Amino acid sequence: MYIILLGAPGAGKGTQAVEVARELKLAHIATGDMFREAQKQGTALGLKAREYMEKGKLVPDEITVAMLLERISKPDCRQGVIFDGFPRTLAQAEALDKALEKQGKAIDEVVYIKVADEELMKRLSGRWICRQCQSPYHKITSPPKVEGKCDRCGGELYQRDDDKPATISERLKVFFAQTAPLIDYYTRTGKLVEVNGVGSVDNVRKGTLTALRREAAGRK
Ligand code: AMP
Repeated sequence: MYIILLGAPGAGKGTQAVEVARELKLAHIATGDMFREAQKQGTALGLKAREYMEKGKLVPDEITVAMLLERISKPDCRQGVIFDGFPRTLAQAEALDKALEKQGKAIDEVVYIKVADEELMKRLSGRWICRQCQSPYHKITSPPKVEGKCDRCGGELYQRDDDKPATISERLKVFFAQTAPLIDYYTRTGKLVEVNGVGSVDNVRKGTLTALRREAAGRK
């Protein structure tokens, strides 16, 4: 199964992708995580990506698509993938379709996790993430048991540079201008299913899995 999780920054794609990948035994590919890892390693890719990420802009398609295509050629992707944060532009969506087609595969479902704008702003500005295992927390809605420490692995929590207010509004603007057109793109191919992203992580997870199973059953 090849599944895309689509949603604005802060919609909960990352959290849901981890859960769904575990449940359906799919590889989880998050391009944002890949760029952050490249930055941590200090590679040329990481340095280039930083120029865009710190401004809340998208990394150019050429760079992002090349990185993604290399990643999906790895053996762990053969059984299926959940894409989190990719594609984010029409050009990326088309490049992914073309690459999968060459392997006789195709995107099966696209889940659009929908959350209202004011809620997105609130979520992003209170978000803290574990440096080690990437688990997300929120200072009001899901605080860690011990301040600054991850409940799961004890790692240090940090606020992403691009979760600062000025960058957040730029990221939301970029989403509506460049990524939202993908909602139409996948609606046209009959692959889009919308899930309400407001509610507990568990409820959204259940909604996502139910939608995926319903769509899969409908195609049989
Ligand atoms: P995320 O962790 O998905 O919120 O991504 C963080 C940042 O990484 C984005 O604001 C972009 O600057 C960059 N990024 C991640 N995925 C993509 C993508 N598919 N295309 C372009 N830029 C991306």
